[in-house]
Amino acid sequence: MSFELYTKVKQKRQHPNLPVYQWKRQPLEQWEITRQRIYSRDEGLCQSPDDKPPKANGLCQRTVSLNTAHIDHIRPLSSGGSNHASNLRTLCPVCHALRLDRKHDGMRSRLVKKGLIPVNWRQFVWD
Ligand SMILES: [Zn+2]
Repeated sequence: MSFELYTKVKQKRQHPNLPVYQWKRQPLEQWEITRQRIYSRDEGLCQSPDDKPPKANGLCQRTVSLNTAHIDHIRPLSSGGSNHASNLRTLCPVCHALRLDRKHDGMRSRLVKKGLIPVNWRQFVWD
């Protein structure tokens, strides 16, 4: 069973390295199935590397419930990464928010408010 989809996108002048074919997000129903498969494969454990700041500094939640787990594209879709299982991993909300990506700014501020990441989160960002 394969849930992989891709769509052709125009190359933008400002991003000469953008691939011609770019994977897109799966439709929500498919993504729910993918989420559960990846979560089960990872046995509900955050897969951020031990030597990266969130785990090295004890911020990682390690065990996550299916509802709170974030399924991360190791290579982002925007950089040509796919929805294949080999490119997906389970992360806890903290490790996901701290992954180097400006799109995560909103997630970070919510976690700061909840006290799950420190105000000086910048030093814990990883990739
Ligand atoms: Zn984590």
